[in-house]
Formats: sequence, C-alpha cells, structure tokens
Amino acid sequence: MKLILLGAPGAGKGTQAEVICNKLNIPAVSTGNIIREALSKGTEMGLKAKSYIDAGQLVPDDVVIGIIKDRLGKDDCSNGFILDGFPRTIPQAEALDAMGIDIDRVIDIEVPDEKIIARMSGRRVCKSCGATYHTEYKAPAMDGVCDVCDAELIQRKDDHPDTVLERLEVYHKQTEPLKDYYSAKGILRVVEGQEDVADTTALTLKALED
Ligand code: AMP
Repeated sequence: MKLILLGAPGAGKGTQAEVICNKLNIPAVSTGNIIREALSKGTEMGLKAKSYIDAGQLVPDDVVIGIIKDRLGKDDCSNGFILDGFPRTIPQAEALDAMGIDIDRVIDIEVPDEKIIARMSGRRVCKSCGATYHTEYKAPAMDGVCDVCDAELIQRKDDHPDTVLERLEVYHKQTEPLKDYYSAKGILRVVEGQEDVADTTALTLKALED
C-alpha cells in the first residue's frame, strides 16, 4: 500500500505513520527526519536546508523531490510506504505522479490551529538521543532532562512560537491545496485528530479500509 499522510505540522502525522508502519510492515518515510539527519551530519544538502527549516519555510521543491526519488528507489519501499511530510506543495505532488507512483490513499489529519500551537510550543526533544516529550502531555520525570539518557531536553528552533505561526501560514497557503488535488482523484479521507492519540489511530486505520 502506498500512503500519504497530510496535515498541518504538529497534527500527529509522525505518530500515525509509526503505527501504520508497524501494522502494515511498510516503511514510514519522513522528509523532515531525512533532512534533520542530513543536518546533524553536516552534509551539503543539510546545510542548504537549515536556513529554511529555522525560518519555518519549506525547503525548495527540487531538493525534497531529489530526496524522495532517492528514498523511494530503495528496496524496502518496493511493497509500499507511508509518506509523512511529503508532498507539501502541488509541484511535489505532480513530481510523484511523474515518477509513475500510484498512491492508494491520502489520509488528512485535521487539527485546529489553536491546538497545533499549544502542542508544538510544548514539544521538547532530547539533544542526544532524539526522544520526544511534551511539557504538558508527555512530561519527563525530571524537568528538562531526558528519561532515556539523562541528556538535556531542548526546544527545536522550528517549534518556537513565532516559527510555529509561520509554519502554519505556510501550511495553509502551500500544502492545504493538496486536499483538493487528492480529493479530485477520489483517494482523500479526512480524519479529525482526537485528544487521545489512540482514538486518532483507530480513525486512521478505519480510513485505510473504507
Ligand atoms: P517536519 O518534521 O515534517 O515538520 O519537517 C521539518 C521541516 O523540514 C519543515 O518545516 C520544512 O522546512 C522541511 N520539510 C520537510 N518536508 C518537506 C517538504 N516535503 N517540502 C519542503 N520542506 C520540507
């Protein structure tokens, strides 16, 4: 199965991608994770992407399309995949079509902006192992310290409140039009993101069957 998870940044796509990945045994492909990994390794692509990410802007289409072409060409994607965070613009969706990839289903996880802002501003990540926390919903045992490896927890630059607002604006302007794009193909299903992650998962899995 070839799936796309759509939704605003912070809508919970990553969590749902992980669940589906385990259930269907297909890889979850997150362009955000690939870019962050490149950034931490200091590669040319990572450095090129940094200023866009820090400003809450999208990395240019040609860069992310190149990343996706590379990643989807790997053996583990031959039986399907879940795209988390790609496509984010109409040209990116058109590039997927041009690659001859037939997407089976697009799940759009809808969460109101106010909730996104509350969720993202409270997000913290371990500087060392990358474990994620939330000041309100998933607090570590000791404030600011990772439960897994005791390293310091930090707030990603792109989770700072100003950047979150910018990312939401970018989402509404550049990514939301994809809903119409995939709705016209008859493969879009909308899931209302719930307070409880497990409830959202149940709705997401149901949307795969319809
Ligand atoms: P994410 O973790 O998916 O929210 O991605 C973090 C950041 O990586 C985004 O705010 C963008 O700057 C960049 N990024 C990830 N995926 C894409 C994409 N498909 N197109 C453009 N930029 C992207």
